[in-house]
Amino acid sequence: MKLTRNGRQWGAMVSLAAMLTVAGCSAAGGEIVQAGSVLTDSAENDFAPSVVVTTTILGSVVSDIATCAVGDDSRVAVLMPLGADPHDFQASSAQVAQMAKADLIVANGLGLEEGMLDALENIEADGGVVMEIASLLDPLPLGNLDGHVEDDHDDHAEDDQELEDPAAEEEAHDHGDFDPHFWFDMERMAQAAELIGAELALTGGEAYETCGVSVAADIRATELDVITTLEEIPERDRILVTDHDSLGYFATRYDFRIVGVVIPGGSTLGETNSQELAALVATMTTENVAAIFGDTATNSELLDVLASELDSDVSVIQLYVGSLGGPGSGAETYQEMMLINAALIAQGLS
Ligand SMILES: [Zn+2]
Repeated sequence: MKLTRNGRQWGAMVSLAAMLTVAGCSAAGGEIVQAGSVLTDSAENDFAPSVVVTTTILGSVVSDIATCAVGDDSRVAVLMPLGADPHDFQASSAQVAQMAKADLIVANGLGLEEGMLDALENIEADGGVVMEIASLLDPLPLGNLDGHVEDDHDDHAEDDQELEDPAAEEEAHDHGDFDPHFWFDMERMAQAAELIGAELALTGGEAYETCGVSVAADIRATELDVITTLEEIPERDRILVTDHDSLGYFATRYDFRIVGVVIPGGSTLGETNSQELAALVATMTTENVAAIFGDTATNSELLDVLASELDSDVSVIQLYVGSLGGPGSGAETYQEMMLINAALIAQGLS
């Protein structure tokens, strides 16, 4: 197997997931992908696993892998509608039932899906296989303001060796101390595609693993274009203020400095007060900040008020943060979304 697994913990999870998904699949009698094809001794590999994905962003990547592997027979459902804020989305009872029947649920994890924590926990307790991808990608801590984490960008998998106490690590994740917004680091998303492909290959066959690798390659190629776009921004202007603490991975990987967030913390559901806002206005004035970055999936009212408080000309720019864009937005896939975000950031800081 060519794929490099991301750490020891993942190896154990894959084995467990293999047992669960294979058992689940044969009991449910999954669909045969190629009708009329001769079943070989690896008959279980001819099922297209049914996958439920929580966010539209992960949905884009998982759909690409499944479509590459089995074409129109891919069975991928995305729970959140376009434009939904993943922090406060709640699954309907029909969606919970759908998750309970799925061979695999791909969730972001690290507390991103705040409105779905109970649903995901219950499904896992009932034997469902939930792959929380963010925790498998060497997550960064939240609140890394004013300066970027020293990171050599290329050996996230090796960094896993530092996590010596899995129980303590797990507890930290449960308390939301890690930043869930990993998709702003395209190398981490490429690794996610490889991990998801390998997981789906356990029930769906090798094509899923191959396709995970090819989708990862496409993401890495797109990242080169993102980096080229961001290179236009001079060092001194690489300053970010965001509506919540959502661009930590972006700042770390692409060398930006986050000098403030409007709503403290890693969630759009946090709160701020007039003192904190006054402090932010002062920081933005000192740092000569050119733009405040919001999210198309959330209301920008507070950001507009803040911008109007500042003497200098500060623009409010809506990025695609928690959700892909709708038809015609130019942000209809994960790769498009990152390209458009890079262009918006380069434009906003120039
Ligand atoms: Zn967020």
